[in-house]
Amino acid sequence: MTEYEAVIGLEVHAQIHTAAKMFCACPVLEDTGDLIPNISICPICTAQPGALPTINRRAVELALMTGLALNCTIPPFNRFARKSYFYPDLPKGYQISQYALPMAVDGGLEIETGQGRRRIGIRDVHLEEDTGKLAHVDGASLVDFNRAGVPLIEVVSQPDLRSAEEVVAYATHLRLIFVYLGINSGDMEKGVMRFEASVSVRPRGSDALNPRHEIKNLNSFRALARAVAYEIAWQTEVLERGGTVAQQTMGWDERTGRTTVQRSKEHAHDYRYFPEPDLPSLEVSREWVVQLARRLPELPAARRARFMAAYRLPSYDADVLVADKAAADTYERVLAHAPADPKIVANWVTGILFRLAKEAGRPVDALPVAPAALADVIAWVERGTITLATGREVLAEMVATGQSAAQIVAARGLAQMSDVESLRQVVEQVVAEHPAQAAEYLAGKQTVRDWLMGQVMRATRGRADPQMVRALLAEALESRHG
Ligand code: ZN
Ligand code: MN
Repeated sequence: MTEYEAVIGLEVHAQIHTAAKMFCACPVLEDTGDLIPNISICPICTAQPGALPTINRRAVELALMTGLALNCTIPPFNRFARKSYFYPDLPKGYQISQYALPMAVDGGLEIETGQGRRRIGIRDVHLEEDTGKLAHVDGASLVDFNRAGVPLIEVVSQPDLRSAEEVVAYATHLRLIFVYLGINSGDMEKGVMRFEASVSVRPRGSDALNPRHEIKNLNSFRALARAVAYEIAWQTEVLERGGTVAQQTMGWDERTGRTTVQRSKEHAHDYRYFPEPDLPSLEVSREWVVQLARRLPELPAARRARFMAAYRLPSYDADVLVADKAAADTYERVLAHAPADPKIVANWVTGILFRLAKEAGRPVDALPVAPAALADVIAWVERGTITLATGREVLAEMVATGQSAAQIVAARGLAQMSDVESLRQVVEQVVAEHPAQAAEYLAGKQTVRDWLMGQVMRATRGRADPQMVRALLAEALESRHG
């Protein structure tokens, strides 16, 4: 039986959170879901007759840097183009995009998959503007132009992806690069990234490119993975039955878990692309490219490799840290105070700190915990000044109150009880309060000892050194025997 393989290309749109929109001075407002409509608009982004666009230099720089980060070639000049189509949230009746002469071309991005490392080709990186938004209320359609003209970077891959798993690995890596470049927050729920996948299926080993289904407007990794997997399965079944797949534009229905036909046969010429006459072509000097390359931050793949080499972190820890830029930054700031072994510090950051950040609904680096303070807490636990449980409590208290670690430890008397005499008193009191359990222990029931230990730890609010408690408890119980 013929084996089939999928051929998948991905177009990724990422909002650029510049101060101003792409072609006017209106501020880019973050989509918080409750913004008042049409408060960031002007004659340019609402397409009043005679209004002329100007190019946002910062958006161009970020698009060029994205090209460099994706190992692309930067052509010496690029040009904006009109992409004509009618939609009520597109006030000009066309979108200013780029077509024949994009910002960057011919790059590649390495992804890690279950089958190892693969390089996915990048066809081009270009700049364009976002559309407005429609809302359908009580039989009326309302339009909000706050988003109209927000700069978008579009990254177009070659059809090199072969599975839903690879598609997600690629999109995830791309998202991280955007975050590291400071293009946007990476917050998918705020719609800062959107995907379009074109999927076709062919006999394995063939190099034919069959007509493809383009799945529009996928707004989450989950939707992306499900829609691609659905299309691969559906098209494979059609081919196995001897059928053919027609080139079509599909929509994804989250509820039914199926794609549905939106339009048939859509081609580039349908958009009547032509050079934007209101904007000059952009010259990109070699000096500018060199300057931008120097300004590139350390990218996720390089940082991951460095974390593994310099800090001897297992790949899992390196992945988890690098995937959250704020956490990786915090991690390195804590390490700068050298409180402990890098792996132990990684455990603190990816363990309790992640949990506290999640509970607070804030990024790790926005918690009121100074890296030096976290380093102190870790060092105290490592030195045995406080127990691990107390260390975690102190950290939670710091997040809740904004107080320093030293203040909390002093105010609550949390330093570990390592004074033998006071600890002996607590142990003896616990044994005296539980004569039945003490007798059971002496009759040979070892598990009761752990229960009694728990009582002591509770009485000392976790401050006691467990080893010392174990010894004192044995002593106290044996002395009863004697
Ligand atoms: Zn405007
Ligand atoms: Mn586009």
